[in-house]
Amino acid sequence: MADKKIWVIAEIRKGNLTRSTSQLFGAAYKIADQKNLDVVGVLMGGEKSHAESLAQKASLVLWINDPGLETYEATRYFHAIWQLIESKGKPVVILASASSSGLELMPRLAIRCETGYASFCVDIWWEGSELVARRPIYGGRAYEELALIKEPALFTIRSGAFSIPGNLPNSGKVETITLTFSDDLGLKLIERKSTTSSKQELSEAECVVAGGRGLGSPENFKLLEELAQELDAAVGSSRAVVDSGWRSHDEQVGKSGKTISPDLYIAFGISGVIHHILGMNTSKVIVAINKDPEAPIFRNSDYGLVGDALEVIPVLTKELRSRR
Ligand SMILES: Cc1cc2nc3c(=O)[nH]c(=O)nc-3n(C[C@H](O)[C@H](O)[C@H](O)COP(=O)(O)OP(=O)(O)OC[C@H]3O[C@@H](n4cnc5c(N)ncnc54)[C@H](O)[C@@H]3O)c2cc1C
Repeated sequence: MADKKIWVIAEIRKGNLTRSTSQLFGAAYKIADQKNLDVVGVLMGGEKSHAESLAQKASLVLWINDPGLETYEATRYFHAIWQLIESKGKPVVILASASSSGLELMPRLAIRCETGYASFCVDIWWEGSELVARRPIYGGRAYEELALIKEPALFTIRSGAFSIPGNLPNSGKVETITLTFSDDLGLKLIERKSTTSSKQELSEAECVVAGGRGLGSPENFKLLEELAQELDAAVGSSRAVVDSGWRSHDEQVGKSGKTISPDLYIAFGISGVIHHILGMNTSKVIVAINKDPEAPIFRNSDYGLVGDALEVIPVLTKELRSRR
C-alpha cells in the first residue's frame, strides 16, 4: 500500500451509499493513478454492508462505527474526521460530494487543517506537484481553474461531473474505528424532520421530470407525478412554482435551489432563464417541452418539443405504461 492517500468521504442516504459517492471514485482514481496514491474510503456511521460495498472501490475503508453518526450532523462529523486525521495522519487529498453535508463539512475541515478548499469542482488534475481544479463561477457563465498547493487539498465534487468507474481491481480491507466524542461538542441536535419523506431524492435521481409555471396549476403536477412514477424519476420545479406555493422548496432546481446532473432531465413548461439553467445544465440529456418556440430553454436542450405540456405529459405516461 502506498504511503500517500486520497480519502473519499462516503454518504449514505435512505439506507444506501449515494450515487455521488460512487462518482467521487471517478475523480479519486483520475488523480491517484498519476501519482501512485491509494484510494481510501471513509465511512461515518452506516452498516458493515455499506463499508464492504465501499471496499469494492477502495484499497482500504476506514469505517467509524459510532451510533452518534447514524444521521449527518456537521459538528459531530467534523470531530470524527478530525480525530481520524490526527490518528492516521493527513492524506494528500480529501474528496466529498458537493451535497449540503459536504458543502458544510469541508470548509470547517479546511480551516482546522489550515489548507485550501475548492467547492463545486467539475474536474481535477495534476500540474506537476499542484492539484488544479476547475469549477463554474459567475453563475456558470465562466470557469475558473485554481491550484491547491497545501496538503491535504480539499474538494467537493459536483454531482455528475465524474462517471462511476467500472471494473475496479480493488477489494480492500475494512478497518473499524472507534472514536470517543466529548459530551459537549458545542451543539445539540434536538429534532430532525424529513422534508422528502418517501419521495425520490432529487440530487440522486438518474431521471428528473420538472415542471414550471407553464403547468398552469398545482393540481396539474399530479400528471407529472404519474409520469415520474413510470420513469422512476424524481419531480423537480422552477422557482416560480415554488414561490407560488405549488411545490416545496426541496424540489427547486436552479441558482437558489438544487444543482443536479441526472442522466435525463425533462422540463415541462419551464422558460429556462439562466437562474434555472444553472441548476441542471450538466444533465447528460436535456429535453424541453414548451408552447413557445422562442423559449430560452430550447437553447440549452438536446431535444425540444413545441407543444402543450398538459397534452404531452398524459400521452407520454400512457405510452410508457403500455410498454411496461
Ligand atoms: C436571484 C435569483 C435566483 C433565482 N433562482 C432560481 C432558481 O433556483 N430556479 C428557478 O427555476 N428560477 C430561479 N429564479 C427565477 C427565474 O428568474 C425565473 O423567474 C423562473 O425560473 C421562471 O419560472 P418558470 O419558467 O416556471 O415560469 P415562467 O417564466 O412564467 O415560464 C413559463 C413557461 O411555460 C411556458 N408555457 C406556458 N404554458 C405552457 C403549456 N401549457 N405547455 C408548455 N409550456 C407552457 C411558457 O411559454 C413559458 O416559457 C431566480 C431569480 C433570481 C432573481
